[in-house]
Amino acid sequence: MNNASPKYQTVDKSKATVQPLSHGLYDKKKIQVDVFRLDLIHPVIAGNKWFKLQYHLKDAMAQQRKGIVTAGGAYSNHLVATAAACRETGLACIGMVRGERPPTLSPTLEEAIRYGMRLRFIPREIFDNEQAFVQQVQQEFPDHAFIPQGGQGAAGVKGAAEILRWLPNAVTYTHIACAVGTGTMMAGILTAATPQQKIIGVSSLKIPNTTDNSFIHLLQHYTPHPNFVLWYDYHFGGYAKKTPALLDFMNALYHEQALPTDFVYTGKLLYAVTDQITKDYFPPGSRLMVIHSGGLQGNRSLPPGTLLF
Ligand SMILES: *Cc1c(COP(=O)(O)O)cnc(C)c1O
Repeated sequence: MNNASPKYQTVDKSKATVQPLSHGLYDKKKIQVDVFRLDLIHPVIAGNKWFKLQYHLKDAMAQQRKGIVTAGGAYSNHLVATAAACRETGLACIGMVRGERPPTLSPTLEEAIRYGMRLRFIPREIFDNEQAFVQQVQQEFPDHAFIPQGGQGAAGVKGAAEILRWLPNAVTYTHIACAVGTGTMMAGILTAATPQQKIIGVSSLKIPNTTDNSFIHLLQHYTPHPNFVLWYDYHFGGYAKKTPALLDFMNALYHEQALPTDFVYTGKLLYAVTDQITKDYFPPGSRLMVIHSGGLQGNRSLPPGTLLF
């Protein structure tokens, strides 16, 4: 048993500020665009990762688990956030990483190790077979709690729902847009939204636009809120893929609005929203909230000088 307090002292709610964007385009279309800067709440456990982790960690502590086992890829924001959060709560933590151990570790994995995470490299065949993988984890670490990749699951959704409780005047927004990886954050936001609010999810993965894909299953599993839409055409080639147009957009956004974004999630989100504003998706008078879910550490995998920030 550990006696660490379940509070994350260094996550600072007062830093979660609302940044209004100003642009002639928005004025012309008569819409307001605000960004909820969850990237600012903590230097490492930033953005949605803290929200999704909090109940997983509380549960592990309540069950007096020895530590946490979780999983991710070599550039996973979730792994490094979990490592830092475990360090602050006093839980041991093990990161299962997909694939062979590379000769040099990514900056993300190096950082996770610095926070005390022990890494295990898992062959892709096992990692990708959910049942076999979970079985292996349970056999090897029976006294640890398992947090699925990305902080998924009911505890993750419950934690993500608090994003809207942190947002000042949340009910005054007509549209709330967020990036989608697993869909856990979007599910949480949907559970907390009013029926009149439209929740927009921008997929950062290439996934078929069908009426019964995995995102829609997940959202419907957690909430009956029907007022959502998923945009599938802003993945820029797929998960963690990028194009010069995306990077140029991110640099311009930083230059014009002092808003840093990451190329895996929030850059694509802001691009999508801007594109849809030009295409008149939002009726005049709309008040749009864009959730900045963090992820900036992932930009370290870009060649130096790619971004202005
Ligand atoms: C992990 C992550 C997401 C994806 O969140 P899901 O709940 O898995 O959909 C979105 N944005 C950022 C910045 C992330 O790091």
